[in-house]
Amino acid sequence: MIPRVVIVGGGIAGLATAYSMRQAADDHGLKMEVTLVERESRPGGKIVTDTSSGFVIEGGPDSFITQKPWALQLCRELGLEERLVGTNDAQRAVYVLRGGKLRKMPDGMLLIVPTRFMPFVTSDLISWPGKIRMGLDLFIKPRQDNSDESLADFIRRRLGREALEVLAEPMMAGIHVSDAETLSLRATFPRFVDIERKYGSLTRGMIAARQASAAHANGRDTGKTTMFMTLQGGLQELVSALERSINGEVRCNTSVTWLEPLPGGGYRVTLDDGATLDTDAVILATPAFVSADLLRDLAPELAGKLDAIRYVSTATVSLGYDADEFEHPLDGFGFVVSRHEPTRLLACTWTSTKFPQRAAPGTVLLRAFVGGPFREDLVELDDETLIGVVRQELRAILGVSAVPRVTRVFRWRRGNPQYDVGHLDRVTEIEGLCPPGLYLTGSAYRGVGLPDCVRQGRDTAREVALYMAQLAHVAR
Ligand SMILES: Cc1cc2nc3c(=O)[nH]c(=O)nc-3n(C[C@H](O)[C@H](O)[C@H](O)COP(=O)(O)OP(=O)(O)OC[C@H]3O[C@@H](n4cnc5c(N)ncnc54)[C@H](O)[C@@H]3O)c2cc1C
Repeated sequence: MIPRVVIVGGGIAGLATAYSMRQAADDHGLKMEVTLVERESRPGGKIVTDTSSGFVIEGGPDSFITQKPWALQLCRELGLEERLVGTNDAQRAVYVLRGGKLRKMPDGMLLIVPTRFMPFVTSDLISWPGKIRMGLDLFIKPRQDNSDESLADFIRRRLGREALEVLAEPMMAGIHVSDAETLSLRATFPRFVDIERKYGSLTRGMIAARQASAAHANGRDTGKTTMFMTLQGGLQELVSALERSINGEVRCNTSVTWLEPLPGGGYRVTLDDGATLDTDAVILATPAFVSADLLRDLAPELAGKLDAIRYVSTATVSLGYDADEFEHPLDGFGFVVSRHEPTRLLACTWTSTKFPQRAAPGTVLLRAFVGGPFREDLVELDDETLIGVVRQELRAILGVSAVPRVTRVFRWRRGNPQYDVGHLDRVTEIEGLCPPGLYLTGSAYRGVGLPDCVRQGRDTAREVALYMAQLAHVAR
């Protein structure tokens, strides 16, 4: 009998696991029957692209970072090289909304750390006392304690309170849609921990990183690879290519409702139509709270730990306009919002400036983010009210009062896992509680971005293949 693997959840993590299973099985000389079960009518999970309106509108992720190479590598393996598009780096400025005004992030900032003197000191984004406090980073002794800490504690300690409120919270906590006071530094920005240890200062470490990356770029043709990349027709192209390349069955419109162990080993997976699949291994690539429900009887302690991974809700609101409706030149990738700013927006991407081919000539596409840990209530507004809220904010910030040609709202209820302080220890505990043949993968655990989800999927496929090879060895 060919061993069977069932993957539950067809987001990027489940798809990447299913795709990687072929290679992982080949590496052990195994054949495997792979079935991926997805609740919705299409795979992709949070990756959803709408091209029906003449704009390329992303509902969830719009790009992936290339410093973590796994999503880019996957696109290349799938034959999507020619479809890759970079950001429009001639206009790579990011603005911060502070005191009701959009202020440009100074040139030479690496994440939130200044690596060039003049643009930083002449910028109006941070006050003089704030700049001086950031400079003290060069002299503050590194922390000796190895335990985790919150992003907020780390930034306050090294760069001061203003850097936290104006830079770190909107830029870094914003990526994770999390409260910086509870966000685990080790789980989200481990590089900062390493830099502090190695260089004794964030600023020194980031300057070294900038110089190393410039020297590296001089020595080779960086081609068209930019820090963030996407695909010409949107990230849905990645989903479609993965679906085509999976060696197995993708069963959509089907929910897994229950899991139970089989007496001789393996699991029985119950589907919402009452059918069952008996399998040697199960991979749950579902949100942690869904996995918890499925494991409630089978592994109650594990389910309890999974329940402890919190989620918050967000929504994206995309608006397509005629280009001449704006007072602002939209000369950047968009803006983030300083904490305590009285706006209901978390951030806004100027999509058609950031990426080519997102809007027809003469039109622009913007995407606003709402919700998150402090304003989850906004996600529950009906479409018309929510669009009204976003338009009102954009009128004040960008001076656009025209009626948009196109609007599109995507809600992500409990869509953003929260990596609270101690997250990685919790995940290690969770992994240790998984019974043989049961695997967890995806954004709840070791990285929320697409590259990390792809890497986790690939690693899970390798673990499963190894497990199957061991089972086959025992059976022989
Ligand atoms: C608004 C937004 C913007 C983002 N932007 C970026 C970005 O620009 N770049 C980036 O790298 N990352 C971004 N992210 C993060 C990234 O998109 C997600 O972390 C990632 O897509 C999650 O993938 P996943 O496979 O872990 O989960 P999901 O995509 O949530 O997939 C889980 C799947 O499981 C299915 N499922 C659930 N229950 C069941 C069941 N019982 N039976 C069967 N199937 C089930 C669901 O339908 C879903 O398809 C963004 C996230 C959001 C919400």
